[in-house]
Amino acid sequence: MLHGLVTSGTVAGALSRTVMGATLASMSSTDDHYVLFTREACEARERQALSSLGVLSAESRGRAVVEERDALRTEFQRDRDRILHSTAFRRLIGKTQVFISDAGDHYRVRLTHSLEVSQIARSIARALRLNEDLCEALALAHDLGHAPFGHVGGDVLDELMRAHGGFEHNHQSLRLVERLEVRSPGHAGLNLTYEVRESIVKHKRPFTGPEYAAYNPQEGPCLEAQVVDFADGIAYNSHDVDDALRSGLLDEAAMSEVDLWRLAREHALARSPGAAGRILQHKTVASLITLQVSDLVHATLANLNASGVRSLQDVRAHQNSLVGFSAERAVQEKQLRAFLHRRFYTHYKVCRMRSRARVIVAGLFQTLHENPRLLPPRYQQIAAEEGLHRAIADYIAGMTDRYAQKEYTLLLQPGQASLEP
Ligand code: MG
Repeated sequence: MLHGLVTSGTVAGALSRTVMGATLASMSSTDDHYVLFTREACEARERQALSSLGVLSAESRGRAVVEERDALRTEFQRDRDRILHSTAFRRLIGKTQVFISDAGDHYRVRLTHSLEVSQIARSIARALRLNEDLCEALALAHDLGHAPFGHVGGDVLDELMRAHGGFEHNHQSLRLVERLEVRSPGHAGLNLTYEVRESIVKHKRPFTGPEYAAYNPQEGPCLEAQVVDFADGIAYNSHDVDDALRSGLLDEAAMSEVDLWRLAREHALARSPGAAGRILQHKTVASLITLQVSDLVHATLANLNASGVRSLQDVRAHQNSLVGFSAERAVQEKQLRAFLHRRFYTHYKVCRMRSRARVIVAGLFQTLHENPRLLPPRYQQIAAEEGLHRAIADYIAGMTDRYAQKEYTLLLQPGQASLEP
């Protein structure tokens, strides 16, 4: 990526003279040696570098509240920055991936998971000549709406919200960026572009339900959104194996029943002869990512060429996902997922963490429901506007694991908590 100042003597400089020559020439009235790499230059580079199937930032369908464009950043770069600077993003550091966030410093949490998804999605997007910045923004936003304690936290909220619209983490991510994050005096939300908001919510077809009403439910998601969905799976398949091995809940012998793991091990040993022990494990996890990414880009490319799509409009009109693994890799990937489910996600120690989490989330919900005056004023306001259940779900979903445990002690085990407010 070329950011900031570029010199005319470098490759970037050559690019600035040839690819974006017209744009940059119009902005530089002198023979300056150094020129700014402006938003217009970024947009010109996108036009030159992206496939006709990618989303151009200059052709975004825009923001709900019209804003002047930035001098240096494209619309999607700006969205990425807004997501990165949001409160919800910072809270991902304290949210469970598989292990509760205080289980150990080296296990993944939602924040590190999101960063890994972002890196993988960008690699895939670059290879397929799609918009990397859009992928980065989507990857950083994709788990914002997760409740504390991973899926179990969201499941408990969904059960308790059954008669009140339910709870689903993708919908909650959209709610965060459209309503709950407040950064401007004139409107709620982060005022992100249409493409980012749409991609946050469009995962499982058909897109029926009130959340999709503003997002052309008859259209499929762009390829960048599809890439991030797969990058998410590649990231957690790989890092969950890493965390499972690190924790000792799984060992090498158990992993050897997984075809993709054995392939990754061969791949790792071919690249790093002599690797052994924990180093070989690291190399094998890295190969697991490499094997999935390289299969995905090749299979997707073949799929795109075979499908006859020629434009972003064709992509949106297509009824199925155009991004995907080869048939062989898809089977291996499914086997790995099933294995992780059987041997890791349902390991009794992981189940114990989930059981505690369930008690905490359900207990907090019930207590706040019985006494809504315990809710902070901001959530009492949401209760007045959208009902008490939604307000409690928003409040609890926004909590980190640690904060939820602290609130539980404070409200339900007051004998163990300080009586100070
Ligand atoms: Mg994820």
